[in-house]
Amino acid sequence: MQPVFRFAPSPNGHLHLGHAFSALLNARMAEETGGRFLLRIEDIDTIRCTDKLVADCLEDLAWLGLAWEEPVLRQSTQFARYRAAADDLVAYGLAFPCFCTRGDIRQAAGDTPPHDPDGAILYPGTCRPLSPEVAAARIRAGEAHALRLDSRAAIARLAHPLRWQETGEGALRDIPADPAIWGDVVLIRKDIPASYHLAVVLDDALQGVTQVVRGRDLHAATAIHRLLQAILGLPAPVYHHHALILDEEGRKLSKSALSTPLRQLRAEGMTAMEIRRRLGFA
Ligand code: GLU
Repeated sequence: MQPVFRFAPSPNGHLHLGHAFSALLNARMAEETGGRFLLRIEDIDTIRCTDKLVADCLEDLAWLGLAWEEPVLRQSTQFARYRAAADDLVAYGLAFPCFCTRGDIRQAAGDTPPHDPDGAILYPGTCRPLSPEVAAARIRAGEAHALRLDSRAAIARLAHPLRWQETGEGALRDIPADPAIWGDVVLIRKDIPASYHLAVVLDDALQGVTQVVRGRDLHAATAIHRLLQAILGLPAPVYHHHALILDEEGRKLSKSALSTPLRQLRAEGMTAMEIRRRLGFA
């Protein structure tokens, strides 16, 4: 089977060296394996991901010398799909409407609440026991709501413990996934008719992605992605979480060097070839 790679930036700012590394690594792995290289624009936050930033993102990637298959999938065109999948999960008893504000969650969680791997307070379960009738009446009355995964119900439906295949540490490893550490994640936000976790698993499946190559900051999120794939009946890609990028001398690039926008380096006279060389791709 031909491997399918994708680079999936969220253009809520300009692309920086960290993005360039991830994009170049995806493209190189695709080339080395005879695979396809796709691009997906993760712009569900349509306020922050403006058309201008999306256009600049494509221009920066082309300037770097990257070539991807058309069409580019733009998540802001796919909200109906995300909603339909979340509604299906509600119908299966695996998701529920949640009316809590951030303040409600903080208050209900108590003084020393557990946190998820991203540092957010674990949802205390406030709206999980609401009957469908009560929830429907509140929605009819116009109360804003999110849709959350019922993670305990979802985990209880699994036929086997979840695992994923990881190549980010060299040899292929089989990693156990513990999605319970994420709790009842949001599937459809109150302010945006989608969420990162739901959109990423639906679109990796839609695009036929077989290899997910992304930064190590998303390693922990893979556990919840595997759970969503399992309950939605989606295939599991192979994952490769890459470490922080190194400079030519093998030192870790500092946070500030990593977050320098590519446009700024370009305006200062740096060429695409110099950037590729600096990141170890030339
Ligand atoms: N859009 C995400 C980001 O820019 C990456 C998503 C992914 O690779 O799974 O952080």
